[in-house]
Amino acid sequence: MKKSVVGFPRIGKERELKFASEKYFKGEINESYLEGVAAKLREYGLKKQQEAGIDFISSNDFSFYDNVLDTAVLFNIIPDRYKELGLNKLETYFAMARGYQGEKGNAKALAMKKWFNTNYHYLVPEIDDSTEVKLSSDKPVAEYKEARALGIETKVAVVGPFTFLKLAKFTGEKGITDFKDSFIGEYSKLIEELRSAGAKWIEFDEPYIVRDLETSDIELFKEIYTALLSVKGDTKLLLQTYFGDIRDIYDTVMGLGFDGIGLDFTEGRKTAELVASKGFPKGILLFAGLVNGKNIWRNNYAKTLDILKGLKKENEVVISTSCSLLHVPYSLESETKLGEDYTKHFAFAEEKLIELKEIAYLSDLYDSSNVSAEDAFKKNQALFVNGRVNSRDDEVLKRVADIKDEDYTRLPDFYEREKLQKSILRLPEFPTTTIGSFPQTADVRKNRQAFRKGEISSEQYTEFNKNKIRECIKLQEEIGLDVIVHGEFERNDMVEYFGENLEGYVFTEKAWVQSYGSRCVKPPIIWGDVSRKQPITVEWSKYAKSCTDKPVKGMLTGPVTILNWSFPREDISIRESTLQIALAIRDEVLDLEANGINIIQIDEAALREKLPLRRSDWYSQYLDWAIPAFRLVHSKVKPETQIHTHMCYSEFTDIIPAIDAMDADVITFEASRSDLQILDYLRANNFKTEVGPGVYDIHSPRVPSVEEIVAALKKMLDKIDKKKLWVNPDCGLKTRGIKETKESLINLVKAAKIIREQNEGK
Ligand code: GLN
Ligand code: ZN
Repeated sequence: MKKSVVGFPRIGKERELKFASEKYFKGEINESYLEGVAAKLREYGLKKQQEAGIDFISSNDFSFYDNVLDTAVLFNIIPDRYKELGLNKLETYFAMARGYQGEKGNAKALAMKKWFNTNYHYLVPEIDDSTEVKLSSDKPVAEYKEARALGIETKVAVVGPFTFLKLAKFTGEKGITDFKDSFIGEYSKLIEELRSAGAKWIEFDEPYIVRDLETSDIELFKEIYTALLSVKGDTKLLLQTYFGDIRDIYDTVMGLGFDGIGLDFTEGRKTAELVASKGFPKGILLFAGLVNGKNIWRNNYAKTLDILKGLKKENEVVISTSCSLLHVPYSLESETKLGEDYTKHFAFAEEKLIELKEIAYLSDLYDSSNVSAEDAFKKNQALFVNGRVNSRDDEVLKRVADIKDEDYTRLPDFYEREKLQKSILRLPEFPTTTIGSFPQTADVRKNRQAFRKGEISSEQYTEFNKNKIRECIKLQEEIGLDVIVHGEFERNDMVEYFGENLEGYVFTEKAWVQSYGSRCVKPPIIWGDVSRKQPITVEWSKYAKSCTDKPVKGMLTGPVTILNWSFPREDISIRESTLQIALAIRDEVLDLEANGINIIQIDEAALREKLPLRRSDWYSQYLDWAIPAFRLVHSKVKPETQIHTHMCYSEFTDIIPAIDAMDADVITFEASRSDLQILDYLRANNFKTEVGPGVYDIHSPRVPSVEEIVAALKKMLDKIDKKKLWVNPDCGLKTRGIKETKESLINLVKAAKIIREQNEGK
């Protein structure tokens, strides 16, 4: 049986790409140096896959920042504001990704959104009426040739035209119908170019078709691919889908004449059923996504072999990863501290290559001989038969079982609390605040590392952070912010930090996964039942409060986000894990309150992440337990304690009632990179929660001007009751430098003052 990998990680085992790009951004290395680092990373991934005997290896899965952005650039979808800067190609590319502010002008970055239900972010292509779609880069061809020069024949992976068009934002009058012909034309040219370069397979990634589709979508897909398949000649086309099943378009897809079709058997709840009931066309390769590209647990070979056996009866099957391995870390080899008891249960990208190889081998034997005698099989099955150490905790199970309906409801209701809180907190109108973290400068990270390595004592560590907190509070007072934060200097990451202080988690050293561009995250692993060992943030918040007379906001991460940004268990439901975490965080909320912290923010930055891709599943599969899990965390606080939450995006127009039902008192969210349409929806839905739509974009180093922030606030005031509007950046400041942070916040406070004056007595 042949083996296929949808895509391989590209940031480097040691995050080489991150460090090199950051140096490049600072002007410390030049373009060719950066390109050299990239070439090495590509070579590493290709060779690893070749060594494992993978038959279908992707090229063009590399990206300096994001594959959707690559595709936009590939087809000349570069808005004028970047072209006008007159930068070179790579600089233009990064300007689109990160925004540009410099000698050559000023341009806002493209909007960034989550890639389907993952924590990877793509840049939203902007197409305006004058966009000329035109194949204008040779990246796919160059990377194909580069791989071939290494002796590796690859399939060339490209974001498919349907998904691309559906994800793009049309900023003018024209829409998909106006552009589809030019896309078909230019994608056809790409196919021709790849063919003349010698490419045998092209993989079009079309995850969008796992979503709910309209008839017009199906027609569009059909039209695009009928055209592309007619020009493919002897180059083979693989339609790669992932993150779900393709129930809305199955028949159409099967009838189009692809050479291979990749289906997700891991997340696609109905994939197996669809193939069984509707069949799969003869002569087409079925790429069966059975090795989970999103989670880190070992594959259960017995189950996989069984599914393969069924599929092989009727079809020619290639065993594949369920999606790109971009979503998992590189290799367990980098994990030196976790014992065998743990690591033997995990498979990162490189271990997954071995799994593919072993599964293919075992599957070939399966029909003719007894695989249970095979070592690889025995070793694998032992993991599932014997279970895992320390994974269950009776006390936690009992606490979850004892949750009552009333534990999900906070009393009194929002409006009463709002009145009470206004009279007690006495904040000015348009209160200013931040989302929590302040710049994590080199010294902050160094202090944490030194403590971790045992180079400094816990007193020294604490002392350093307390100084930082004091400085940070002084800075916020000087700037004139109304609600103060402690700055989160003790946190490496908003989820890992809590995980480390919770029972039931295990941690990795180098298990980095790309989140966006050069930003990587290291999700902890939920190993067992979760509980809180001891208070986590209380000392820091108490100390912060002792440094100022202004209100200090305590800062926690919510249960849904902790779950969504961890690698979840597969042996219990994510609902059950989330409730366990909610109970642990609730202990922390109540301790903060008992220590005089009367504003507490519970971040749900990633609430939307596991929202099912199909609308029909939203409530029943997710929101019906995720929202109550959040309420469980704060339902027992006093009415006068103000609960904030924060989300890292503003795409919740479609779940506004659910967001309101979180029953927080204030919500801050990202709005600066996207348009403010959300505000209309909030109004239309009588959104009760007070809101702080981010007034500037913290993902870019650019300092927003006072005028710009005033303008943003004015726009917001057209739609939002002035009594409900907060003024804040759109996310935490931890990745920013001090200088730009200070300048930006000074402008933010100035803008709030102007708005207050303009609205006085209104
Ligand atoms: N409180 C966190 C911070 O400020 C929130 C981060 C986030 O939303 N991603 O860093
Ligand atoms: Zn955020």
